[in-house]
Amino acid sequence: MNPDISLFDLIRSAEPVFWQNPELSPIPNFSLTESDVTDAESRLRRFAPWIAQCFPETQAACGIIESPLTPIPQMAEPLAKKFGKPIRGNLWLKRDDSLPVSGSVKARGGIYAVLKHTEDLLFHENLLTSDGDYRTISQDSIKSFLHRKKLAVGSTGNLGLSIGIIGAALGYQTSVYISREARQWKKDLLRAKGVRVVESEQNYEAAVAAGRAESEADPDSYFIDDERSVDLYIGYAVAARRLQTQLKEAGIPVDSDHPLNVYLPCGVGGGPGGITFGLKLIFGSNVRCYFAEPTQAPCMLLAIATGKGSRVSAQDYGLSGITAADGLAVTRASELVWREMRTNLDGCFTVRDEDLFAYLRMLNENCGIRIEPSACAGFAGLQYIAKETEPNTTHIIWSTGGGMVPQEEMKNYLQLADF
Ligand SMILES: *Cc1c(COP(=O)(O)O)cnc(C)c1O
Repeated sequence: MNPDISLFDLIRSAEPVFWQNPELSPIPNFSLTESDVTDAESRLRRFAPWIAQCFPETQAACGIIESPLTPIPQMAEPLAKKFGKPIRGNLWLKRDDSLPVSGSVKARGGIYAVLKHTEDLLFHENLLTSDGDYRTISQDSIKSFLHRKKLAVGSTGNLGLSIGIIGAALGYQTSVYISREARQWKKDLLRAKGVRVVESEQNYEAAVAAGRAESEADPDSYFIDDERSVDLYIGYAVAARRLQTQLKEAGIPVDSDHPLNVYLPCGVGGGPGGITFGLKLIFGSNVRCYFAEPTQAPCMLLAIATGKGSRVSAQDYGLSGITAADGLAVTRASELVWREMRTNLDGCFTVRDEDLFAYLRMLNENCGIRIEPSACAGFAGLQYIAKETEPNTTHIIWSTGGGMVPQEEMKNYLQLADF
């Protein structure tokens, strides 16, 4: 039997699958380069004094938006019990749920894309120079200039939060085109910041298209295009440099005897794709990156496994795209990210909603850490990979969001769990 036929049958019936990429290149080959990441890292450093001034929670880190890397050995036993097999290697959680400013991985790429655009505008108007004091951005003359400019974005929620919060801080008029799965509290929070929230009963892809069309008709509006933006992707990639430092500080080697496995929840692909790009530039094939997607929305798995990129959607396989993992409710992958991941990503797997809630509660009960359903998707990967791997493998579950979830909402999530 052709194994791929059964793979697509399983995908169609929304069964969890694990897929290893047969096209994986032994040497990473990306179209973007090291210097693109260095450029982004420098830009974030230039903005750091302004960020520290506007967001007091970043002051201790001097305006660098970063999250801790936390050991979670307590998870090994309950996970092994759930999977019915032991977990080998060490478990770590990359806490992007606790990223300052907007509490999700979108505080990386989303904020970076807005800062990049802002620099472009201010340099062009001679209102700022790269060696100047970026704290002047908060002065009235610059703020009133930016207030005449508009930002727009399509989002399932978290990207909208990041763009809305940073956009409001800079003075922009911001519109967020939000898709059907967006949680009410995210819309309320955005409106409280003065952001225009355009609601729709449609999915993420349609929300992005609506935002793009309206923004393109307005010369003062800049559209942050999650399906196409190189800036978003590069902004996420900076995470890899920061992780490299944290691994060193924690005394964790990464080499051919000490492989690093990273499990990344994937929506349209920019976040996990950018991080994978950054990590592979640093660690080559000693890092293995796996994307986690909902069984109802495995867009990147389909894009790569069929070779059709953004020409294929989860709907083509009879899937709804409806999932409790709102951050991952995307049925068509980014063409840009698909191209970059095609021969560089190690594999993909899919996760059922009920399992997300099981991991959510398990993490709360064993580690006292509360994250949102999307952010739990990476845990599922351990059942496919951990058994065969060397005992000295480091596993990093990338926890992509949850820092801003209201307590009431979190209580509901915890009650949905059953394991
Ligand atoms: C957006 C998001 C992701 C995935 O990022 P993409 O760039 O859409 O692939 C993962 N987890 C959470 C919580 C998110 O909000």
